[in-house]
Amino acid sequence: MLLEQVLIYGAAILLCGLVIYLYLRSEKKASKIVEAKIQKAKEEGLFEPVSLHPRIDLNTCIKSGACVEACPEKDILGILNGGGTLINASNCVGHGACFHACPVEAISLVIGTEQRGVELPHVNENYESNVEGIYIAGELGGMGLIKNCVEQGQMAMENIAKLGLKSVENVYDVLIIGAGPAGISASLTAKQHGLNFITLEQDSVGGTVFNFPRAKIVMTAPMHLPLYGKVKLYDTSKDELLSIWQDALTKNNISITEHTKVESIQPEGSYFRVFTNTGKEYLTQTVLLAIGRRGTPRKLGIPGEEMQKVAYRLLEPERIVGKKVVVVGGGDSAIESALLLCEQNQVILSYRRDAFSRLKVKNRENITRAMEEQKLQVIFNSNLLEIQEDKVIMKIGDDMTKTIENDLVYIFAGGELPTQFLKKVGVEITKRFAYTVRKHAS
Ligand SMILES: Cc1cc2nc3c(=O)[nH]c(=O)nc-3n(C[C@H](O)[C@H](O)[C@H](O)COP(=O)(O)OP(=O)(O)OC[C@H]3O[C@@H](n4cnc5c(N)ncnc54)[C@H](O)[C@@H]3O)c2cc1C
Repeated sequence: MLLEQVLIYGAAILLCGLVIYLYLRSEKKASKIVEAKIQKAKEEGLFEPVSLHPRIDLNTCIKSGACVEACPEKDILGILNGGGTLINASNCVGHGACFHACPVEAISLVIGTEQRGVELPHVNENYESNVEGIYIAGELGGMGLIKNCVEQGQMAMENIAKLGLKSVENVYDVLIIGAGPAGISASLTAKQHGLNFITLEQDSVGGTVFNFPRAKIVMTAPMHLPLYGKVKLYDTSKDELLSIWQDALTKNNISITEHTKVESIQPEGSYFRVFTNTGKEYLTQTVLLAIGRRGTPRKLGIPGEEMQKVAYRLLEPERIVGKKVVVVGGGDSAIESALLLCEQNQVILSYRRDAFSRLKVKNRENITRAMEEQKLQVIFNSNLLEIQEDKVIMKIGDDMTKTIENDLVYIFAGGELPTQFLKKVGVEITKRFAYTVRKHAS
């Protein structure tokens, strides 16, 4: 009897030991995979978060993996040696699904890291900046995501409406800059309150959403769109979301002035004079900045740049086939675009310097290989002089000029950051390090 009991206990202990051993072994194996992914992310320059991202309190984390499951993007989070960790943090767009999914509330959402700060403008509880009459809404203020930006656009405009501005001939009550989620919602709210307003957009209605890749699934929580009602989309296509916005604007007779970039804002008496790239100027009593955080692409300033065939971002590379393309630039965006395009097109990459510098390791390897395999042509020390319907004129070195047959031009020449724009306007900015935007009440 005693022997039997010893055998049973012994077997049970052995079994437990085996289970624990197998568990620890699989955990070690999984950690190794995550370690390798982190190493790769570091090499590719994707490990450092650039905007809103999760911070995991490892003392509270119980490695449930709920955050990894919940994240709609791929390999942003993983479990390493018994705790949550960031992997490709640069790709995080701040959905916050991990924040809600964590069963022990170990995640907070922060902007910037301890080493790398993020510049955020000063805004009071009414969304007004330190410059009286200039308001800020949306991601520019630090809080991203479509639903949040829609809410902020509405609230900022409600505060402007509360000012009870007296209408003045030839002067707008409010001029809205940017037509992303925040600017669209602000425009609808301005209409709702009968304000005399205009919305200027340097690109197209939809803002960052307009520039999402076609295949991207847009994740958003239900939101209230002023003058339209509840929008109950969860996982949707960008086209569906854009058509809802367009519908809401059309039904309310709101026409947004697209392809008009605001260059500067200057105080003039108790108004602001707003200058644009089209040469038009506007007088307004207040301004709402809903310009997001992605900045304005820099132009080359050459003849022909205004043509339809010129673009500053690559939206749907898979749709561009059999074209003669010139890509301008030597940074990561230019290289990545040229590499994508050269799969189905004839690509020339034009760069004004004599070599690439400060590229992500992976991009450097890929472009070197593509050049060796003659998948594309790279012309260093070159500058575009002129763009024409079916060709471009390029200056190479000091004294050579070449005419090249061409269908499309993509320009990646950097850009002006929104913070530079804010500084010009006089809005105060502070660099925030690992600034907590959302955390659970303790
Ligand atoms: C790849 C990616 C995926 C994302 N996925 C999601 C998602 O699934 N769900 C989600 O909720 N959020 C997502 N986001 C975040 C979301 O897109 C942003 O938080 C949101 O679009 C910000 O809205 P906004 O109105 O503040 O700014 P934006 O959408 O950036 O719009 C600002 C607008 O202002 C214009 N502008 C700027 N400067 C000027 C100027 N000087 N003159 C005139 N116009 C100007 C710009 O052209 C732009 O159209 C994603 C972001 C990215 C980059």
